[in-house]
Amino acid sequence: MRVLLASAELSPLVKAGGLGDAVAGLRGALIRAGLDVETVIPDYRGWRLDKSEPQPLDVPEWAAPASAHRGRMADGSRLTLIDVPEIRRPHPYDDTEGHAFPDNDQRFMAFAAAVAALAEMDPPDILHLNDWHTGPILGFLDEPPPSILTIHNLAYQGRINGGWLDDLPHRADAYEWFGDLNPLSGAIALADRVTTVSPTFASEIVVDGNGFGLEEPLRNRGSALVGILNGLDTEVWNPANDRLLDHSFGLGQLDGKAHLRAELVDRLGWHLDGPLISMVTRITDQKGIDIALSVVPYLDGIGARFALLGSGDAALAAEARALATAHADRFTFLEGYDEQMAHLLFAGADLYLMPSRFEPCGLTQMQAMRYGTIPVTSAVGGLVDTVVDDDLSRGHGTGFLAHDVSPTGLVDALHRAVRAWRSPRRRSGIQRRGMTIDWSWDVAAREYLALYESLTQ
Ligand code: ADP
Repeated sequence: MRVLLASAELSPLVKAGGLGDAVAGLRGALIRAGLDVETVIPDYRGWRLDKSEPQPLDVPEWAAPASAHRGRMADGSRLTLIDVPEIRRPHPYDDTEGHAFPDNDQRFMAFAAAVAALAEMDPPDILHLNDWHTGPILGFLDEPPPSILTIHNLAYQGRINGGWLDDLPHRADAYEWFGDLNPLSGAIALADRVTTVSPTFASEIVVDGNGFGLEEPLRNRGSALVGILNGLDTEVWNPANDRLLDHSFGLGQLDGKAHLRAELVDRLGWHLDGPLISMVTRITDQKGIDIALSVVPYLDGIGARFALLGSGDAALAAEARALATAHADRFTFLEGYDEQMAHLLFAGADLYLMPSRFEPCGLTQMQAMRYGTIPVTSAVGGLVDTVVDDDLSRGHGTGFLAHDVSPTGLVDALHRAVRAWRSPRRRSGIQRRGMTIDWSWDVAAREYLALYESLTQ
């Protein structure tokens, strides 16, 4: 089966967020499953692939000249780089100040037109689109192949001036959105299947107020909207062989985790007398940072210590800094992006906090479980699909869920988690169950493959 997998990002070549990792993980697992996958991304930097020559693509005048460099990566897998006017930039979307380029709409419309021309020239069995950048592709195709749209981020929709609707030769009506052109709503309407990156998120976004304005087009798709949980890169996130950690550990041999806990406590300048809580995150409203910070005054009563690693929103970061000064013996704020410290926080902590307001999938709760760190999370999106509450499941859980996404809800879940953690028998049961789950992309790839097969048979 030939799959054309179109994306604006592909790790490690180009990654601005989770999209690059997810597409890379899925692509690798589909190739391992024996599929012929051609990944197609914009040629942002004029990469050298191999000696193959770029092929010209038949695109509308405003997107010309366009070409496809169809080559292979070092591992032999297929990668196609699309060159269109103005696509070459050091960063896919933003200037050095972090502001979006003003011509992103035109750049990705041209990319989409070029991918459509490629699909027309050499039709795949499945056309798999990812996020808004690839949304217009279906509007450029007269007879699209069976198609899937995966929504990684519903908040970004690439909405642009309605004048562009005249440049979409097919089904412009599907893209019309309150006078504008919305690449994501159009693809939601036209793709044969629409997927989100967790099942619970798929069911949440059809409810008014939860779908970033796209609730109705999403509802219209009925059972064609499905959720498939993202996987983890289980080579990078492997406690038995983690190049960023000084000790390794695994199920039934947690000595290494105890050493890493001691190392972490030492680096934080604390001493051990209760559970150690960690959190590794972008500092944004979505991640419930304010809710996490609201537990700081209760840490004394709980007998816990809390280390937060993150960067982002300036006001929330200032709040975290102030709390860290006022409660220095219980709370520390490590400001920045630090992969090595992130691995140590997942491995060395006892509990992991994640009170997200919404969560399309979420990776850090899985990373915590893989390292035997018990997650305490809100009950939204992918967190519901990955964390089983140990109280509600009567001892079959992998963590604790706060059903009320609020300070009191989180403090309650944290109290329950600490109680379980203080019981060696309960603690090791929760750790064992979390550590044995297979979070690999192979699991997700099997579900995508079943979806592809359902569309091609
Ligand atoms: P997001 O919504 O930010 O994509 P996820 O939980 O899906 O949230 O994934 C975030 C990824 O980024 C995880 O692998 C996490 O370890 C990493 N990460 C987030 N913040 C930091 C940080 N400050 N330092 C190091 N790694 C981080």
